[in-house]
Amino acid sequence: MWRCVSRGLSLPSKRWISSESPKPHIQRFFSTETTAGRSSYTIVDHTYDAVVVGAGGAGLRAAIGLSEHGFNTACITKLFPTRSHTVAAQGGINAALGNMTEDDWRWHMYDTVKGSDWLGDQDAIQYMCREAPKAVIELENYGLPFSRTEDGRIYQRAFGGQSLNFGKGGQAYRCACAADRTGHALLHSLYGQAMKHNTQFFVEYFALDLLMDSSGSCQGVIALNMEDGTLHRFQAASTILATGGYGRAYFSATSAHTCTGDGNAMVARAGFPLQDLEFVQFHPTGIYGAGCLITEGSRGEGGILRNSEGERFMERYAPTAKDLASRDVVSRSMTMEIREGRGVGPLKDHIYLHLNHLPPEVLKERLPGISETAAIFAGVDVTKEPIPVLPTVHYNMGGVPTNYHGEVVTVKGDDPDAVVPGLMAAGEAACASVHGANRLGANSLLDIVVFGRACANRVAEIHRPGEKQKPLEKDAGEKTVAWLDKLRNSNGSSPTSKIRLNMQRIMQNNAAVFRTQESLEEGCQLIDKAWESFHDVKLKDRSLIWNSDLIETIELENLLINACITMHSAEARKESRGAHAREDFTKRDDVNWMKHTLGYWENEKVQLDYRPVHMNTLDDEIETFPPKARVY
Ligand SMILES: Cc1cc2nc3c(=O)[nH]c(=O)nc-3n(C[C@H](O)[C@H](O)[C@H](O)COP(=O)(O)OP(=O)(O)OC[C@H]3O[C@@H](n4cnc5c(N)ncnc54)[C@H](O)[C@@H]3O)c2cc1C
Repeated sequence: MWRCVSRGLSLPSKRWISSESPKPHIQRFFSTETTAGRSSYTIVDHTYDAVVVGAGGAGLRAAIGLSEHGFNTACITKLFPTRSHTVAAQGGINAALGNMTEDDWRWHMYDTVKGSDWLGDQDAIQYMCREAPKAVIELENYGLPFSRTEDGRIYQRAFGGQSLNFGKGGQAYRCACAADRTGHALLHSLYGQAMKHNTQFFVEYFALDLLMDSSGSCQGVIALNMEDGTLHRFQAASTILATGGYGRAYFSATSAHTCTGDGNAMVARAGFPLQDLEFVQFHPTGIYGAGCLITEGSRGEGGILRNSEGERFMERYAPTAKDLASRDVVSRSMTMEIREGRGVGPLKDHIYLHLNHLPPEVLKERLPGISETAAIFAGVDVTKEPIPVLPTVHYNMGGVPTNYHGEVVTVKGDDPDAVVPGLMAAGEAACASVHGANRLGANSLLDIVVFGRACANRVAEIHRPGEKQKPLEKDAGEKTVAWLDKLRNSNGSSPTSKIRLNMQRIMQNNAAVFRTQESLEEGCQLIDKAWESFHDVKLKDRSLIWNSDLIETIELENLLINACITMHSAEARKESRGAHAREDFTKRDDVNWMKHTLGYWENEKVQLDYRPVHMNTLDDEIETFPPKARVY
């Protein structure tokens, strides 16, 4: 039972960058009886025009845009902004700038639709590819130090799945980069821009749940300040989720340990669906054992995959694109080679990536970061030896369903595109869906800046700065506080790390590069059991100050929700499309399965539904690309 006592508590909110930000107000004090004794929580209320959750590329670009439009904006982030996973992006960002050869955004659009295996929404893909050149020039103007051509233009490298002239003109050079540290350069440039504006950052605040009103509108979020244990209700007319992916549901992933799908889980807990989670991208070249990424840019610069016989096997699987076929195709080919006994190493369980035939100057200038990574994590001198690599979980195509404005959508009656008022999403947390069943390399850095900006623009279309907001409902956030309190006092017998490892192994084994009905059915049973076992979690630390035990447990719950929906969505989809490769249903089935999966989390169980793919384009600048066989 919650008892709410008003107190004149004056608790300073943490301000990292503050200017003319509204003071938090209505401070209240909740207290409750729990089985573990009497717990009390301080709640601080804030009101903003807009609140952005996440300060990676998507969150920062949204926050910059909102501030530019004059909206009083809070940006909440569990990490210091420049530690977000965007910082780790290596290869680059796609745009038809035409700096190396003639290029056209329509060719980029064709490649993206084909890459998505016709599960991408073509209106959103058109929007992204048409905006891309502007977005990259904007980044250049923000100060992003792109690599350059001899004549001073932005250098663009070859990347997987990119072609000229609707697949008929050979390899495209479309990926703009800053050596192999593009994400680092991008995130720091955006953070620098954010500094110029009035965005107020709440750093090391962990968003717990959405604040939904009884009519189904989003009114903001409730977050935990990890430093002092206070709870904060951020009320806003617009809430933008930019919380990144959930790669850490798997055992071996290139993503940071912080990629735990928190925003996705918040949406699922609020009763809204997550879309297309069965599509998980395996990057062909994670370092064997360590999982660290070796960018596709290494193959873009001429790197080659070879099996134990020294054969460049991609010539057999993708005669035209070879090593630069789409990621799902390369990952499957590598897995086939290993299965057929042509893997390398003592256990014949990985593949070699050769860069040692490339001129050392190229490696030094274009791939300095991965040369260092290979030396540290594989003990390899890339100028002399091949790098041992293995397909590794890298990206989540699925996420919170949105339209191309960034508004979150759900099915309501006959409307499969009903907008959830007040709620938006961008970046890897979102599913616009520009990547469909398989994302092309260097299309995510593009997605995050294009749709971060789109969210800000949409807010400016429907709201005015300083607009009056309906007060929060009396009980807003109470359920979340009860949930937090219960988790904090969990006294079962399984440590968080044990349940997490179990979940990661299940995902790695049962929702892998290749899937069968058997592996997925078993996966569903095992992952449901893993969820059950979470009820028996044990926390040792009961404090509220820097309680990493508690934070990891909340993240585990969030990961488990994502993992359960992923497994059940995959089991249900009886076809092969993009990253979802079934050995028992080897063909794409457009008649029955050209539709987005919607996974709901209802009473701790997964429920599935579907919505149509948008096959329409925005206008007559380009026609829809009808489905056809996908060969590289
Ligand atoms: C190693 C690696 C290399 C990559 N290379 C490329 C590349 O070359 N090109 C490309 O296009 N893509 C690349 N990608 C993919 C791309 O980098 C990511 O998809 C993209 O950067 C995600 O950006 P984001 O803003 O959506 O999320 P992130 O950058 O992951 O940021 C998430 C933000 O949300 C915050 N957050 C999360 N949960 C909470 C919470 N509960 N409360 C408060 N804050 C929260 C975090 O603090 C963080 O600020 C790469 C990915 C990896 C892992």
